[in-house]
Amino acid sequence: MPLLLLILVLLVASPAAAQRLPVTAIPEHYDLWFAPDLKTDTFRGRETIRVRVPKPTRSITLHAAEITFKDVRITTGSQGQPASVALDEKTETATLTVPDEIAAGPASIDITYTGVLNDKLRGFYLSKATGRKYAVSQMEATDARRAFPSFDEPALKATFAITLMVDEGDTAISNGAQVSDTPGPEPGKHTVVFARTKPMSTYLVALVVGDFVCRGTTAEGVPLRVCSTPDKKDLTGFALEAAAQQLKFYNAYYGVAYPFGKLDIIGIPDFAAGAMENTGAITFREKYLLADPERASLDTKKSVAAVMSHEIAHQWFGDIVTMKWWDDIWLNEGFATWMANKPLAEWKPDWNVELDEVEETQTALALDALRATRAIRTNADTPEEINELFDPIAYEKSAGVLRMLENFVGKDAFRRAVASYIEKYAYGNAAAEDFWNEVTRVTGKPVDRILASYVDQPGVPVLRVAAACQGSSTIVKLHQERFSGDPKAPAPPAMPWTIPVCFKAFPDAPASCYVISKSEETLTVPGCAAGAYVNAGSVGYFFTEYSPDDVRALARKARGTLTPSERVGLLGDEWWMVRSGRHDVGVFFDLAGALATDSTAAVTTGIATRVAYAGEYLVPAAEHTKFQQWVRRRFEPVLTQLGVPGSGTDELEQERRAALLDLVGVWGASPDVQQRARELAAGYIRDASSLPGTLVASVLDVAAYGGDATLYDQYLARLDRLASEPEEYYRFFNALPYFDEPELVTRTLQFAISPKVRTQDTGTLLAGLLARPWSRNQAWTFIKEQWPHLTARLGTFQGIPTIVQATSNFCTAEAAADVRQFFAEHPAPSAERSIAQAIEKITACAAVAERQSRPLSKWLTEP
Ligand SMILES: [Zn+2]
Repeated sequence: MPLLLLILVLLVASPAAAQRLPVTAIPEHYDLWFAPDLKTDTFRGRETIRVRVPKPTRSITLHAAEITFKDVRITTGSQGQPASVALDEKTETATLTVPDEIAAGPASIDITYTGVLNDKLRGFYLSKATGRKYAVSQMEATDARRAFPSFDEPALKATFAITLMVDEGDTAISNGAQVSDTPGPEPGKHTVVFARTKPMSTYLVALVVGDFVCRGTTAEGVPLRVCSTPDKKDLTGFALEAAAQQLKFYNAYYGVAYPFGKLDIIGIPDFAAGAMENTGAITFREKYLLADPERASLDTKKSVAAVMSHEIAHQWFGDIVTMKWWDDIWLNEGFATWMANKPLAEWKPDWNVELDEVEETQTALALDALRATRAIRTNADTPEEINELFDPIAYEKSAGVLRMLENFVGKDAFRRAVASYIEKYAYGNAAAEDFWNEVTRVTGKPVDRILASYVDQPGVPVLRVAAACQGSSTIVKLHQERFSGDPKAPAPPAMPWTIPVCFKAFPDAPASCYVISKSEETLTVPGCAAGAYVNAGSVGYFFTEYSPDDVRALARKARGTLTPSERVGLLGDEWWMVRSGRHDVGVFFDLAGALATDSTAAVTTGIATRVAYAGEYLVPAAEHTKFQQWVRRRFEPVLTQLGVPGSGTDELEQERRAALLDLVGVWGASPDVQQRARELAAGYIRDASSLPGTLVASVLDVAAYGGDATLYDQYLARLDRLASEPEEYYRFFNALPYFDEPELVTRTLQFAISPKVRTQDTGTLLAGLLARPWSRNQAWTFIKEQWPHLTARLGTFQGIPTIVQATSNFCTAEAAADVRQFFAEHPAPSAERSIAQAIEKITACAAVAERQSRPLSKWLTEP
């Protein structure tokens, strides 16, 4: 790095970097002892940290938050001395100072302390279910310091020997295998000692205490268990089966056998994240772990298997090799997201997970279409900034870029490179460069150039394509620039991306791939075609802009020439051409109409969500009836032909039926479909075997839309009885925002903040109300009034950001101003970027509505 640049970076970086620990000691090993007290919601802790002191000092600084220090001693050789403690709440650190200088070299720190089992779902915290309390942990990103004073940064790896003294009759689980379990020493307690771990980061420590019961097996010689509260044991079988298959798959893929001795997987009744990859002790939100073997929907089975697969993939990517600092969190999350589908594709080929991958990429593209997006690698220093990095850029965008690379270098070469990287950095830390240099070395392909252009630059390129046949070749002209989803605001200029582009010039030719790196390029592709599909397999991370005529031509032959993934990709591309004002909305509607009878569920879902958006935001009030008629004309016959609930057992067909039910019932406002949904819902409430699992959620949603207080009361009554059946609970819970009568919306709002709803779910329910046109204004008024209560109640990791993001469902300049002003007066530090993104989405939506309303009106009126 040139010196001037270095100075600039240091100047810019210094205030926030003050959050990082000064290097006064480097940890090597922690002996940790915890005694949670479930009566007083507190815990006692004792620890010895063995450290290396790099240079003589009288003070050592480590992290601690909400910890009350008792005795602190620092020992070097045989000389121990008491230390005084100075706390800094702002940086969440404690500085331990001794009278006599500590020599450079080995030292140990002994601390006894007490802490709080908090209700904020972070650190060592309380969860409640089945009429009792549980003590459980969530350390990532920066909350290990709430459980034990520690050097709480990912690069400061150490080994851990953990002991828990817990109530008689309770189970204790931690990262290592259980070494011993002895009564006492205190009355009514027993002490569980766990094996010393491999070197790992503090954020991966796990503590789980309660009456958990486990179902176990052995996979690849590794003892494997899935654990839950006792009432839910019947729902753990599917997760165990998935975990066993995945462990086997990953051992083969990585070429490094799972090294952590045992693997426990535990469902936690209150949990802020989806799941957490603690080394050897993965914790889960219950709804992502538990599935009724008879009645689970395809969606639930897929998400249980996919979240499991993501977390087990992390045991290598994240746990064995960890990013040096949080700015490279994509090395953890992007990898686990990309990797997760591999064992699924092998285990359940009929699930078509390659289509889920295309949808994942589209989730990321939607965020990357904003100017307020961020680069994959983004500076973050405060805990709030770090928490905000866990977004679709870290997960879905990074995964999409990795898929593009894997496709470009070849699956086997990429696997070898990944294995080599894991081996090289095992039990250590790595940065983005370490990864791309290794892949470049092993594959001999310019992966470093591609990744450098994607990792450090925000946004996404759009490729404008013009293709023409010339002799036996196709001449393809490409122009790339940064994409903006706002028709009124072009994207800022960007450096050209280095992009591997794979063409499909005509149906049967193999895709041919090129690396482009300039703003304008002309390529000669073998085979003569009037047009070309530029993103073969939909594995490229970019938008494609065809001419409107080319889109219509592709639409006509899509079902014969494009794979299902490519059809899903084409729908996404065209939708964003409309959103950005490059094409009139009619081009998308022509495409949607041409694909209305497509039998791929993901195509139907892709159409349904966008038609719903158009129906809500783009259709002028005067044309609303015409719009509903178009939806019914195009899609109701398809639904009628499929039948509801239908007789088939094909689960993907059920998904397609579910998407159509919502589209025709809610957005097409079909009285027949609404009536049918209400009959089916009533039948389902009487007899849960009357509907196939995959269809239930849609039926309950559509029945709720227009549903009355009697039906509402029935849904609420069901919720009361479903604490032990997560999937069934959320079917009814997530249907509540579909009730559109204002009094029922009020009841849902009150319910959301009542003690009946778990803190982890409040944000989701309020977001559901913000997402619906009939409840949006009412919900926003309520949220503003309740804001102090909400910020006190909800954790910073998930609840508040979820609500902030849901404000993006507004679509007027006035709403943008209102949201902006509210958050200016009520800052949400863990959602700063989300606020900017929400405001930009609202503004862009208003611009799209202004740009597309008239063309849509015209399209609807023309025959
Ligand atoms: Zn993850």
